[in-house]
Amino acid sequence: MKSQAPLLRPRIFRPTPLNLNRLAGRLKRGEIIGVPSETVYGLAADALNPEACMRIFAAKKRPTTDPLIVHLASRYDIDTVAHVNEAALALAEAFWPGPLTLVLPKKNIVPLIVTAGRRTVAVRVPDHALFRKLIRLSKCPLAAPSANPFGYISPTSAVHVRDSLIGSGLRAILDGGDCSVGVESTIVDLSNPDKPRLLRPGGIEAEKIEMVLKRKLSRPSYKSISAAKSAPAPGMLSRHYSPRTKLILHTSLHPQDVMHMTVNEVCLLLSKPSAQVNKLLKPDTKKQLRWLSESGRMNDIAKNLFSTLRKLDEENWSVIHACLVPGLEGLAPAINDRLKRASAKA
Ligand code: AMP
Ligand code: MG
Repeated sequence: MKSQAPLLRPRIFRPTPLNLNRLAGRLKRGEIIGVPSETVYGLAADALNPEACMRIFAAKKRPTTDPLIVHLASRYDIDTVAHVNEAALALAEAFWPGPLTLVLPKKNIVPLIVTAGRRTVAVRVPDHALFRKLIRLSKCPLAAPSANPFGYISPTSAVHVRDSLIGSGLRAILDGGDCSVGVESTIVDLSNPDKPRLLRPGGIEAEKIEMVLKRKLSRPSYKSISAAKSAPAPGMLSRHYSPRTKLILHTSLHPQDVMHMTVNEVCLLLSKPSAQVNKLLKPDTKKQLRWLSESGRMNDIAKNLFSTLRKLDEENWSVIHACLVPGLEGLAPAINDRLKRASAKA
C-alpha cells in the first residue's frame, strides 16, 4: 500500500539574531514566512518578487483579486514603492510605526500581483520591532496579508498560524508573542488626497486620523457593504474572519441570558460578570459564560477578540452568542466590523 506523505507542519522560530538572519535569507530567496505584527500575524513574502507573492495567495487560498499590503521598515522608505502626497506624509509622521495603512498611487517597481492589477498600492510601517528588523535584514519590502486560510479568523499568535496553515506550503513562522492590538490596520485611501476615504476601520481610530488631516474621511456604511453581492472594494467581503460555529450577534447581552440558552450554546460577554451577578447564576450555566475582557476596556476587547472566537470555535459549541460594542467611537467600529463580518452568512 502506498503511504501518504504527512502534511508539513510549519516550524516556529524563536526570535534569536541567528534565526532572524536565517528567516531574512529565506525571504530573500522567495520563501513565504509567518511574521508577528501588532495587529495580527502576517504571511510575508518579498513584495518585489511576483513568484514569492503568488505563494502567499496559494497558501491562504486567497483570490488574486484581493490586493496585499506592503510593509516597510521606516516611513522614510515610502517613496520606494508609492508616489506620496502631503496628506500621506502627515499621517505617516503621526501614526507610523502603527496600525494604519495608506493607499497611494504605486511605483512601477511594485508587481501587479501585489496590487491585484491596480495602479495603487497599500503601504504600512508595522509597530513590531521584530517585523521591522526582518524587513531590514531581508532588504526588501514585505507583502503580507493575515496568516490564516482565506475567510477564517485572523491569527494573533504563532501557534494560531501553525495550526491553521498545516500543509499550505508555509514552513517557518517567527514568534513575536501575542499581538498587542489584535485587529487589522485602519485603511485610508489617499490616492486622491482631496477625497480621503476610510476603506476599513481598524487599530487607529478614524477620529484621530481626521484630526491630523483636518478634514472628514468618507466612510462606507456596513449596510452598503453587506448589501453588495460582490465586494465594493477588495477585501470588503461581507463574510470574513468567520468561525465555523454559528455566531449570533446581540446589541446587548447579560450573564442571566444564559439561562434561556440550551446547554451547547455559549454566551460571549464584553466584560467579566460582577461577583453579585455571579451569585445569581447556577454553577452549571456558568460554564457557558465567557468574556472578552476583565473590565470591558475597548483595547482589551480588540486584543482578545480573534483569539477568543478561535478558542470557542475549537470547543464544539452549537452557537456562539456575542455582543456588539456600544457606541461609534474609538475602536468600536473596528470591533463591530469584525463581529458583523464573522457572523455574516456566506
Ligand atoms: P489584509 O487582508 O488585512 O492584509 O488587508 C488587505 C486589504 O487592504 C485588502 O483586502 C483591501 O481591502 C485593502 N487594499 C490593499 N491594497 C489596496 C489597494 N491598492 N486599493 C484598495 N484597497 C487595498
Ligand atoms: Mg486578512
